[in-house]
Amino acid sequence: MSNIEQTLSIIKPDAIERNLQDKIKNEFKNNGFEIAKEKKIHISKQEAEQFYKVHETKPFYNDLCNYLSSGPIIVMALQKNNAVLDNRKLMGATNPKEAEEGTLRKKYGISIDKNSVHGSDSLDNAKIELEFFFKS
Ligand code: ADP
Ligand code: MG
Repeated sequence: MSNIEQTLSIIKPDAIERNLQDKIKNEFKNNGFEIAKEKKIHISKQEAEQFYKVHETKPFYNDLCNYLSSGPIIVMALQKNNAVLDNRKLMGATNPKEAEEGTLRKKYGISIDKNSVHGSDSLDNAKIELEFFFKS
């Protein structure tokens, strides 16, 4: 049965800085994702704080928001069957040191705070996050 979903993906500043965007986009395409929407933006700290609001009580919140607003990012709506879960699998664990071989964070991530990609963690959050960046 088909279960087409869209999920929000972000290529984070550390990956853009190292010019990895085309490589990472090809990883998505080679793994069956269609890039349905895409834009390159540079968000403000305030926008990063809003986006990561679920983490506002975490000790790393301030650094995380400074980081996401530190340079350009590419935000994408990725579409395929089971896109949310399949993107999380392709990304690998939050900490690149714990990520499985072949995953994006293992291949491209530098550290837990510079882990190259974001992906929505549930279908509900995908809808909220897509709306955040692609309000119609
Ligand atoms: P994920 O991005 O895998 O969904 P989380 O939602 O838990 O992970 O965290 C959001 C982001 O916050 C992570 O991608 C990472 O950049 C950063 N982060 C998470 N945990 C830590 C930590 N312990 N120290 C520093 N940064 C962290
Ligand atoms: Mg998360």
